[in-house]
Amino acid sequence: MEYYSSAISDLIEEFARLPGIGAKTAQRLAFYLIAQPEEQVEHMAQTLIRARTQVRYCSICGTLTDREVCPICESAARDHKTIMVVENSRDLAAYEKTGHYRGVYHVLHGAISPMQGIGPSDIRLKELMQRLQGDVEEVIIATNSTLEGETTAMYISKLIKPTGIRVTRIASGVPVGGDLEYIDEVTLQRALEGRMEL
Ligand code: ZN
Repeated sequence: MEYYSSAISDLIEEFARLPGIGAKTAQRLAFYLIAQPEEQVEHMAQTLIRARTQVRYCSICGTLTDREVCPICESAARDHKTIMVVENSRDLAAYEKTGHYRGVYHVLHGAISPMQGIGPSDIRLKELMQRLQGDVEEVIIATNSTLEGETTAMYISKLIKPTGIRVTRIASGVPVGGDLEYIDEVTLQRALEGRMEL
C-alpha cells in the first residue's frame, strides 16, 4: 500500500540516495521542503542545477572549480614546484584552511583499494606523472592514514622515486583511519611541517 502520493515518495527516494541519509532523514527532509515557501524551494533547485552545470574539474590539479583552471593553479603567488597529493577536494580545502601551505595540489579523486576493486588506473595517477615531467622539486603525499591511503602513498612513492624528485609523506600526527577533513587546522599544519622523506 502507498502511504504517500508519488510526488512525495519520489522526493523521499531522491534524498535517500544521498550519502549518509537514511530512510527516516529522507522523509524528514522531504516533509520539511514541502512545508517551505515555493520561491525558496525554487531557489534551492536552481542552485543545485547551477552547481552541477558550472562546476567541473580543474584541468591541472583536478579539484572542483567553475573555471578551466582553478585559482590555486592559476596563482603566481603559489609555489608550483611543490605538489601536495590529496584524495579529494575536501582534503584540499582542509589544507587551504590552515593558510600555511604555499604549494599547489593534485587531487586523486579516490585511493587505491583492492577490496573495493579500485586500482591505480582508477585514480588520477597518470595525470600526476604527466605533471612531474615539468619543473617539480617535491611531492608531498597527504592521502588519509587509512589502509587505502597508506597503500596509495606507498604506490605513489615507488612510482616517483626513480624520477629523483623528493617524495615526502605528511607526519602521522593525523589519527589512523581519520578523514583529513575532520582534523583541526593545527594538527594538519603540524602534520605538514613534520613530513618525512619516503
Ligand atoms: Zn587546479
